Amino acid sequence: MNGVKTKAPEPRAQVKRVKEYHPPLGDRSGLRLDFNENTIACSPKVLDALGRISRAELTKYPERDPVERLVAEHLKLAPEQVLLTNGVDEAIHVLCQTYLGEGDEMLLPVPTYSMYAVYASATDARLLEVPADKDYRFPLLALLDKITPATKVIAIANPNSPTGQVVSREAILEIAEAAPQAMVLVDEAYFHFHGETVMDLVGRLPNVTVARTFSKAYGLAGLRLGVLAAGEESMKWMRRMISPYSVNSLALACVSAALADTEYVSWYVSEVLAAREFFTAELDRLRVPYWPSQANFVLTRIGPKHGEFSIAMHNRGVLVRDRSSDPGCDGCVRITIGTQEQMKASVRALAESLAEIGWTGEEA
Ligand code: PMP
Repeated sequence: MNGVKTKAPEPRAQVKRVKEYHPPLGDRSGLRLDFNENTIACSPKVLDALGRISRAELTKYPERDPVERLVAEHLKLAPEQVLLTNGVDEAIHVLCQTYLGEGDEMLLPVPTYSMYAVYASATDARLLEVPADKDYRFPLLALLDKITPATKVIAIANPNSPTGQVVSREAILEIAEAAPQAMVLVDEAYFHFHGETVMDLVGRLPNVTVARTFSKAYGLAGLRLGVLAAGEESMKWMRRMISPYSVNSLALACVSAALADTEYVSWYVSEVLAAREFFTAELDRLRVPYWPSQANFVLTRIGPKHGEFSIAMHNRGVLVRDRSSDPGCDGCVRITIGTQEQMKASVRALAESLAEIGWTGEEA
């Protein structure tokens, strides 16, 4: 090119400090107990809806408004209080971009879902992690203690991942009241498996925002569809930060069918709850320590051989997620709960893998 020399420009300093997030996807043929997805399929009615999309429809930019009205109705909210997002991940990004500036602080109880820290660290704000109490219980007092006038966002996953622990409604109210200058995000990605919500606080408490996803119980992780709900005033600001077409037409076309097939979601959730009970009883029998979970996964403590264990499970066609590098999770492996049949099959792999690593039940 005629001797022209250039170099790659430097990114912003904040971008350099963002930790790379590489989910270990790769070849995932096998029983997928690694990403807390629905382990079977979405409702067949959703696939029918996809099949009805015309070629002409795909020529148009996606229109999220009518679908937001539908979701608002489903959640008993006003349309102005609902924003559809490209998964909860985008909701977190939008929230951080809207509220976190220089001199601000975000409070994050840990361990928790990785993307809060990823998006917060790309802003000019300071991220303050609050370690969980014993047995990963929600660190209410420590969190309240860290609230200052600089606190701008408090992110709470309820139920939390990877621990499956929950926060009470009273605790959320106490936090919202103690930090009126901050947006309190309650991420209810696993709501269906827990059944408790603070969605009714949306609009009533202007500093509470609630996130939901179609990635878990609905089985639509591949479509990337999330919901952010907040008071109208806050939503006005957040709408400015979202890309206008981030939720694509295929995802939008599925929402009505997904919401309407309540029977499918109820069936899947009841399968998971029964399977969770069965699987944790098996963990007891095999003397594997775990934390009782309100979500579609269980955090187990395998101990120093967590890596070998995860590989042994993989070799038997069962994918699990090593979480030992999460704060306070040394030796821990997270196992998604699927259907009863799947969890029965996984117990054989579990027993064999434990035998392979020489498990005696004293290690963890
Ligand atoms: N929140 C939590 C607590 C999660 O565990 C996950 C995904 N594992 C997400 C949000 C991401 O949801 P989505 O697929 O809607 O981006």
